[in-house]
Amino acid sequence: MRRETELAGQVREWTVDGFHEQLRAEGVTRAFAVYKDGEILLSHPGLRPLQAFLEQSPDFAQHEGVFIGREEGVPALFFAFVHSTRRGLSQGGLRFWKYDSLAAVIEDGLRLSQGMSRKNALAGLWWGGGKGIVTLPSRYGHPSELAQGSPERLRIFEAYGRFGASLGGVYYTAEDVGTKTYDMDAIFSQNRFATCISKELGGSGNPSVYTAIGVFRALQAAWMFLEKTDDLTGVRVAVQGAGNVGRPLIEQLDDAGAEVWVSDVVAGPLEEIKRERPRVHTMLLPQEEADRILGLDVDVIAPCARGAVINERTIPLVKARLICGGANNILSTDKDAEILHQRGIWFVPDFVCNRMGIVNCADEWSGHLDEDVRNAAELVYPATLEVLEAAREQRVTPLEAANAKADAEAARLHPILGHRGRRIIDHLIESGWHS
Ligand code: NAD
Repeated sequence: MRRETELAGQVREWTVDGFHEQLRAEGVTRAFAVYKDGEILLSHPGLRPLQAFLEQSPDFAQHEGVFIGREEGVPALFFAFVHSTRRGLSQGGLRFWKYDSLAAVIEDGLRLSQGMSRKNALAGLWWGGGKGIVTLPSRYGHPSELAQGSPERLRIFEAYGRFGASLGGVYYTAEDVGTKTYDMDAIFSQNRFATCISKELGGSGNPSVYTAIGVFRALQAAWMFLEKTDDLTGVRVAVQGAGNVGRPLIEQLDDAGAEVWVSDVVAGPLEEIKRERPRVHTMLLPQEEADRILGLDVDVIAPCARGAVINERTIPLVKARLICGGANNILSTDKDAEILHQRGIWFVPDFVCNRMGIVNCADEWSGHLDEDVRNAAELVYPATLEVLEAAREQRVTPLEAANAKADAEAARLHPILGHRGRRIIDHLIESGWHS
């Protein structure tokens, strides 16, 4: 056991660049760790530390496969996390972000990918759960430093498209933090397994406005659960992040008569809000003070920036009765759900309320109708009520109630495809995908 723990520890010590260099030195361009019949199979013996790490990770959740790729001359590593393909081929956003270690990449990917299985299942989509990660080249601090259309950005996402193509459809890409519609277009230029592509190419475009509508409807439903009314007039809401999701959420809240505070770490979006929404209170907070918005004397907190903002350190600051926002993985760990519950703070799990992004893109290959998406957004309201009522009835946290329902749905096999994703993974291994 000690040996396994030591091995797993190496993954924490591997920087992304160090791991990339190791793959390069060994001439490895594709690697995998695949879970089958209770065991993790590796493409290369050098991945033993990764195997130990996965075995010890609370987030592993029997992921069907973790796939890693790189291309000569491209300064980024590619990951596809495939949690479950029982309900269909795996689908989830592609994150383009900077990570301190390989462990941080793997932990983020595993959590997000399992979250996608739950989100897709609860939304009634016939898709499994997966997530992609492209690591930001280490000389950059933020993905926005690589401008749209820059040759380097294009090269990275086209290469990711070839990596996705090689996976034979077991993972379908969508937009996520750090990626934009034009990155999906670059991927789509290399494979047919991309969604959230631009309208010009027959896709559904940026889904964020729909995501915000879903979060707004969830917030109303939760208020109905707590206060027997979904009229938000005078309700005090603090929104963290004025980006693609935060911004349209603020507008809906303001239109509904709520009193809104919004924070961001950059001034630009706040300046616009000040001009266009004079009733909204704006707070420009540097990253090290970003948590201040969470401690405001308000009724609701809506995290719409980053994950893990609700954690052991920030929960004691919270005065709100309700947390409901668009960010993925708002809680740092599942234990936080219990701490919130004990403190009488209700939490709407993010995969219940922020589903509309994926709902908008998921089925775009079968034609896009705005009307479908608007109708689907309305379902977020009853879904939220159902989760909160089940939690109250069963005396469990809303997260436990939502996980139980989502996991039961995610375990159902696709009525036509069956467990096709599993067969694709088996085929990849048998046909020497990694060699
Ligand atoms: P975005 O990048 O457009 O906006 C995020 C905003 O938050 C930016 O303005 C950024 O400056 C700000 N920010 C970053 N750190 C902050 C901090 N500590 N405090 C305050 N502001 C901070 O991203 P987005 O598309 O709006 O997504 C926001 C969250 O919602 C992410 O967690 C994303 O995974 C999740 N999400 C988005 C969608 C979608 O449709 N866009 C769907 C589902 C989930």
